[in-house]
Amino acid sequence: MEIVRSIAGVRAWRRGAGAGSLGFVPTMGALHAGHASLLRAARAGNDRVAASIFVNPTQFGPGEDFSRYPRTFAADCALLAAEGVALLFAPEPAEMYPAGFSTAIDVGPVGARLDGASRPGHFTGVATVVAKLFSITGPERAYFGQKDAAQVAVLRQMVRDLSLPVELQICPIVREPDGLALSSRNRYLSPAERVEALVLSRALLAAEDLARHGARDAAMLLETARAVLGEEPALRLDYLALVEPDTLEPVAFLEPGRPALLAVAGWIGVTRLIDNTLLSPV
Ligand code: AMP
Repeated sequence: MEIVRSIAGVRAWRRGAGAGSLGFVPTMGALHAGHASLLRAARAGNDRVAASIFVNPTQFGPGEDFSRYPRTFAADCALLAAEGVALLFAPEPAEMYPAGFSTAIDVGPVGARLDGASRPGHFTGVATVVAKLFSITGPERAYFGQKDAAQVAVLRQMVRDLSLPVELQICPIVREPDGLALSSRNRYLSPAERVEALVLSRALLAAEDLARHGARDAAMLLETARAVLGEEPALRLDYLALVEPDTLEPVAFLEPGRPALLAVAGWIGVTRLIDNTLLSPV
């Protein structure tokens, strides 16, 4: 695996790599089995895989965890190499944002919903860095996790609006056996908090169960999930919402053939966690 720190280095690698499709997996590092699932999908669907590790400062708000975000570069490189990644792009912030950098991509209303509502500016940071990473690496396909469902909606909007020549591939959420969605931020949790965090997936499961038994009314589904969340005093809820997956606008009733996104976010101690499920009535 080639590790490249500069934009010019990636472009040179791309020129030397010759024909064949490139799958790209952008990450912030602290890699886990969720990231590995994206790498495997990228390998299966392309001739070569490139990954990036970049803890993007512009998508963190003041007081968020940018400076203490877990950085495990050596272990990440071992995982990426084992998954058959050909190129790792791991730039410093100054390479991505040199003095004078001033462009920002605002995807409009979808970027201000869910996490975009509680983290102002977050999705502008995400969209801008992802567009720049696409421009640098020039992949045919890029792989993202359903875990960050609002991010998926934002990136779909951006790729559509800007006619970016990249196919977005969305991979299912990878969970621990007990239901906790894998996240780099799970490392922050104490053993007790790790147990408390299970309330998120439990609440989603309760609503899924109700939907499977025929419930269609959003208020009822949300009330059921909220009741489960309420059983865990350690949780400080940010949002719980049933929304249309592309626009992130609220859904009032589940309709057959129209999957709705049930998404939750909240803090356990100082750690902000997110989770979601797609409810797909038949
Ligand atoms: P991050 O390093 O947190 O920016 O995540 C990089 C990519 O991995 C994003 O597309 C995430 O949605 C995806 N990802 C993170 N956690 C999971 C998970 N548990 N299952 C599937 N994909 C994930």
